[in-house]
Parts: sequence; C-alpha cells; structure tokens
Amino acid sequence: MIAQVIIDIAAKQTDRIFEYHIPKELPDVKVGSRVVVPFGPRKLQGFVVGISERSNFSGKLRDLLLVVDEMPPLTNELVKLSAELAKEVFSYRITILKAMLPRVMRANYRKILTPITEKAKKMPYFQGDPIDLNEVDDIDNIAFIHKLLKAQDAKIEYIVENKAKTKTENQYMLTKSKKDYLTIYNSLRENATKQKNLLMDIIQNFNFYPKMQKQLEKDAEINTATLTSAVNKNWLKKKRVEVYRNPLAGFEGNTKISKDIKLNDEQQSALKYINSSIENKEAKTYLLEGITGSGKTEVYLHAINQALKDGRNALMLVPEISLTPQMVEQVKGRFGQEVAVLHSGLSEGELYDEWRRIRRGETRVVVGARSAVFAPLKNIGLIVIDEEHESSYKQDSDPRYHARDVALWRSKYNNCPVVLGSATPSLGSRARAQKGVYTLLRLTKRANQKKLPKVKLIDLKHVEFAGGQFDLSVELFNAIKERLAKKEQVILMLNRRGFANFMLCRECGFVLKCPNCDLSLTMHKDTNQMQCHYCGYSEIIPQVCPNCQSNKIRFLGTGTQKIQEELEELLPEARILRMDVDTTRKKGSYKNILDKFGNHEADILLGTQMIAKGLDFPNVTLVGVINADTGLWLPDYNASERTFELLTQVAGRAGRAEKTGEVIIQTYNPDHYAIQLAQSQNYERFYGYEMQVRHAGNYPPYFYTVLISIASKNEQNAAREAFKIKRKLQNNLHTDAIILGPTPSAISKLKNQYYYQILVKYKKEENLNNLLHQIQDSAQEIKKYGLNVYIDNEPERIR
Ligand code: ADP
Ligand code: ZN
Ligand code: ZN
Repeated sequence: MIAQVIIDIAAKQTDRIFEYHIPKELPDVKVGSRVVVPFGPRKLQGFVVGISERSNFSGKLRDLLLVVDEMPPLTNELVKLSAELAKEVFSYRITILKAMLPRVMRANYRKILTPITEKAKKMPYFQGDPIDLNEVDDIDNIAFIHKLLKAQDAKIEYIVENKAKTKTENQYMLTKSKKDYLTIYNSLRENATKQKNLLMDIIQNFNFYPKMQKQLEKDAEINTATLTSAVNKNWLKKKRVEVYRNPLAGFEGNTKISKDIKLNDEQQSALKYINSSIENKEAKTYLLEGITGSGKTEVYLHAINQALKDGRNALMLVPEISLTPQMVEQVKGRFGQEVAVLHSGLSEGELYDEWRRIRRGETRVVVGARSAVFAPLKNIGLIVIDEEHESSYKQDSDPRYHARDVALWRSKYNNCPVVLGSATPSLGSRARAQKGVYTLLRLTKRANQKKLPKVKLIDLKHVEFAGGQFDLSVELFNAIKERLAKKEQVILMLNRRGFANFMLCRECGFVLKCPNCDLSLTMHKDTNQMQCHYCGYSEIIPQVCPNCQSNKIRFLGTGTQKIQEELEELLPEARILRMDVDTTRKKGSYKNILDKFGNHEADILLGTQMIAKGLDFPNVTLVGVINADTGLWLPDYNASERTFELLTQVAGRAGRAEKTGEVIIQTYNPDHYAIQLAQSQNYERFYGYEMQVRHAGNYPPYFYTVLISIASKNEQNAAREAFKIKRKLQNNLHTDAIILGPTPSAISKLKNQYYYQILVKYKKEENLNNLLHQIQDSAQEIKKYGLNVYIDNEPERIR
C-alpha cells in the first residue's frame, strides 16, 4: 500500500503530495495519521492525506518510518477540509493541518550531530554521545563541526520530538486476601499509626480497590512514604495509569442554573426552525438576531439538546473573551460530563486532554474559541457561533481563516444547520440574510420582559468634570455615587489599558515612541514602565525628556489604571475591581475577578472591552463608558460598525434583572451616527444606514476585499516590491476592480518591519485566486531578501 503524505515544510516546492511505501510492519497507517518519513537526508513529520493501492511514480518509493500516534489525530473530514481551505486562505496545506491540532502536538525538531568514524567517536568533543546542535552557538565549535562534516567524520540527523505528554498517576492494587490483611493488621506495633490506617482502609473498603494515590492518601490519612513502604512489603502493587487533567476544576458545583426554563414565543418560534433543520439534516444557516438579554443562549442550549436527542453531536463557538466562567458553567450545568471545553486559558496539558476526549468520541458537546472549529468531533448535528460579529473569529496570522467559513463548510459536510447569533450581527451576515442566503430569526424583546436600559449621551466638549482630571463628568460621577448608596453595582468601560497613553515634552514637542514600532509608549504606573502594546518593549518612566533633558514633560491621555486611581481618590469607600490584560495574565484571575464581582465583594467593575460582552450580573444597574471615541476614527472602513457594536453590547450589561438599568456614554462625537444609533440600540436602523455608507464607498458587503501587505526591515525594498505587485494586479484584473495603494500601513512600522499595503476591491474576478497564489509563491522566493508578503482574504482589519 502507498501513503500520500504532506510533509512538514511550509514551502511552495513541498506543498504537494509525496508518496511513500507502507511497510508490512506498520499496519496502523490511516488517513489522518501523523507519520515520520525520510526526506532527502532528513527525517520529517508529515500527515497521511490518502492511501492507495498503487502509485503513478515510476521510481522506487521509500518506506514510511513511523506512525506517531496510536489513533490518527485527524479525521477524514478534517483532512478533506485542509485541502479546500488551502485554496481559500493562501496558506500551505501543512500549515493548515498543523493549525488543526492543539499546540503541544505541533512537531519540534532537534538537529543532532552524530559521530560516524571511530576517530570521531573517541573525540573529547562528543565523549561518546551525539550533540544537540540547537545548543551550539560558539563560533569555534561551529567551525569545528563544519570540518567534521566535510571530512565525513560526523553526520547530521533530525529527530522528531513529540511534546504532548499524557498525564499519569499512581494506582494501587491489592495483592492479598482480606484475611491476610487482617492478619498483618493484628501483627502491627501499637504506634505504627500510619500503617494501621492504611490496612484499616484496605479491610473496610476492600471492594473499592484499586485506588488512586490521591484518593488513598485522603481516605486513609497517609502519605507517600507509607505507600512506598507498603509496596516494598508487597502489601500493595503500584501501577502508572493515564488520567485526564480536569480543566473545569472550580467550575463545578456551582450549578444554580435551572434546567427547565420555559421559552417565550419568540424563542420557541426560532427554535422550531432550527430543530426542524436538525431533524431533517439540512445544511441551512440561521442568523439569530436577538437584542442583548433576549435569551439567545437559551435557544442554543435547547437546540443542542435536540441534536443530542437525535443521536448527534454539537459544536458551539464563542469568542475567547466571552468564554466566561458564566458561560461554561451554564453549558456544563446542562450537559455535564458530555462537554469538552477548548480555550487558551487552559494549560497545554489540559488542552491536549480535552482534545483527546473529543477525538476518542468521549464527549458530545464541544465549546470553544476560534480554533475549536477544527475540533475532531464526528457526527455533528448542530454548529452554533455566538457573537458571530466578533473579529476574533478571524485568525490574523497564518493561516488566516475565518471560523465562520470553516463552520459553513463543516455544516455542508455533516448535513447540519449553523446558527449564527448576535445582538449586532456583522454587516456581511445581515446582508446575506437579506438576500436569503441565510435565514433571519429575530428576538426583539428581553426574555424577562424588561425594557432595554435608557442610554444618555454626554458631550465631553461641554461638560464639567469631577475631580482635577478630564475623565469623569460630574453627571457620570453622581450617577455612580447614587448606585453605591443604593448598594447596586456599576460597570465602567474604558477601552485602553495602562495609565497615560503617551509622554509629551512641552519644551521640544518630543513624543516617546517604541524603537521597534511607529507607536507611542503607554505609561504603566504600577510597574513604573513605559510599554509598547504591540511588541511588548518597555523602559523605565523617564524623569526628564530623553530628547532635550527638560523636566517639562507631561503624560497625556487616559487608561484603566488612571481611572482606577481617580475613582479611589474621589470615592475612597468604593470597592473597585480592574479587569484588563494586566490584571488577568495569571491563570484563573479572570474567573476570580468575576466571582468577586458576582458575590458583591466589589461595587465597581472597571475594564477594557473585555467586560463588554456576555456578562450577566443582575445587580448591575449602571453602565458607564468613559470614552466612546477610541475606535471611531481608526482608518478602517468598519470603525463605525465596531463602535456601534461595542457600545450596544456594553449597554446590554445594565438592568438585566428586576432593577431598571441606565447607561451613560461619554463622547466627543455625540452627533456621529454610530453613537446616536447605539444610544437607541437600534441595530436594524444602523444596518440600513451603514449599508448606504458602504455602498457609497464601494466597501463590503458590496465588494469583496483582499489585503496584500508587504513588510521589510528596509522601507524602500518594501515599497518597491509593493509597486511590483500592484503592476501585476493591474495587468491581470478587470478594469472595474479597485486597487488602492500601495500606501504605508496605518501603523507603518511594527517590530522593526516597515509595512506597505495594497487593498483590492472587486465584484467578480475569476483570475484573482490564481493570481494571488502566484504572488504567494513568488513571495517565497523573495523571502531570502528579507521581504515578507501576507495575503489576507476578507480582512477584518485594514491597518
Ligand atoms: P443573550 O445571550 O441574548 O444576551 P441570555 O441568553 O444571556 O441573553 O439571557 C438573558 C437572561 O434571560 C438570562 O438570565 C436567562 O437565564 C434568562 N432567560 C432566557 N430565556 C428565558 C425565558 N424564556 N424565561 C425567563 N428567563 C429567560
Ligand atoms: Zn524635550
Ligand atoms: Zn513596539
């Protein structure tokens, strides 16, 4: 038999199938297996994407060397998907295959130098052992190695390493009869307490053995030493057994969720459509447009239930930031052990375990962020994408796939419906529903009959500020004070972390910027650092201007840290929790902060856009937005859409239960339509208006877009290459295609690379896909001159 293999080198020359002979000793080679194959002088990992009886290759095929995993990590479906996706997203197939696996399973290679001749084996340099070349950096040694290779005294070998480790724990088995243990017990000295405890546990719980070490230590109140000596005396036998890490430790036991909420009419009617598609195995796409608090989650859960009842499985995607403990608890509470959760908060080991449970068919519901769309779940009966408008569903590095597109592909493969849910659907999805490509389902009322909160706009141009800073208007401040007096809670959003977002010298006008990026550094008072939010560069806060040494420097702009300090000064009795990237780095801190707020151990939750979505706290009656304008003037055609969506979502956190909610939005642009329409929380009107804007500007969803970025350490090289690509496009596309640029990207320098970009807008271009693949391939050749070309199909962001 012959295996068709995609090998682990992401390059044009190797982006095709290589055939290998499957030796008799390797019967487990299947489609989807990871294998190790010889490739030239090296050994490489690869994926089997097909198996055939014979080959068209006339020469002699080499043998496969090894199958890496017991069970093929990829299903037939995923292997097929990788081929389709490679055509759409301008990535090599191997990059996509690897993206489908949890991080730990992506291969690691070690380059090893092995002595060949007797002379070399005796050299003190080797001391009889091979050398790991990744650890050699000394120039003299490198020269010496070259000499050895040239003289053929040594050779280089490649070893594939598998980082993924299963977790094992000790299990203890009995070796004797109950009577024997009784005899031993009676022979023990009076003061051998620990040993007596152990034997008593064995005698009393004889039928509950074998036991795991942790359990046994707890039950018998003993420690490892006692167990070791028991094994030595042959009272017990020890074995290592595989266990799963439990990523939901801490999430359990909090199942206050009732299982039998009665759906209201709107929910019921939406559910009926979805359920009928589940039953009829229809690959239909529904857009569930429901205002915040309308009970979309409840509809998803009922639909998942239907899929399970039909003997099929369900996949639910949520954005990373709304993969909150609240959400996980709800799904776990409903479907228990059948749920697997995949998100970046898990340790690599936990992810690996969850992933294997799915692959082995031990779970039926998968909940996860973007990459969970590649979960090796079989027999899918329903796919849900919550908050479908979120830009995080698009990966912004290679492979640049959109989880929604992948979900739609899988829905066709599995003959199952997709439900896209949102209070503020992406314009593209809403337009597709308009055209009948998707089916629109609407929830227009809050599930508990409460009205949406009233939203007030405050014009920061004409307002009095509380305290000495220009951040909190008197009106917002008074509203906060009022809630605190009533023991109600407040959510405040400011979409910028840190303290001040730039340093300006009033003497010479100098602004302190990142040396690697074209961006000002943000002040972080708590760590006494100025930080670059793009590349992570940081330096100590300067006392004088680094340019002219003047001490007339000012720190301007605002961030979450500064607001926290101001609030602490103005309201010393208020208990404040801050939630941003800086306070949530540690594992579990996110859940910790939300738990505290939920238990009313704090009055104010202050945070970046992290807090805008998905949170459901009944005691929150006021939501304040410190500055609504941060994203409004970004040079990006969807800046208005993002602003509208963020404000509507955060407004939806207020007044979700008995008490009426209020929202106060501070802005310098109270007349902008995105802010005006967010005030009325009227998505449909926003949709209508924004479609006109997009139409006038020839933007999506009226046009398709593709963004080509060209990056280099040398600015001229980047520009020159960009013009070359533009000419190629111009010569090959229709005249009605719009080619914008090349221009320096909005952030023209990032991590020491200069960026130029070309945006292509088009309606129909049969040639474009081909052309872009050519550009991608030649990009590989110019890589050696330090030029990088990135192709982003339907970009979420145009920098
Ligand atoms: P959304 O995701 O649409 O913003 P949720 O699904 O979070 O809304 O629902 C908001 C609140 O309404 C939740 O507390 C939920 O338990 C409750 N809820 C949902 N459906 C119903 C219903 N039919 N009857 C009563 N309460 C409901
Ligand atoms: Zn200066
Ligand atoms: Zn930087």
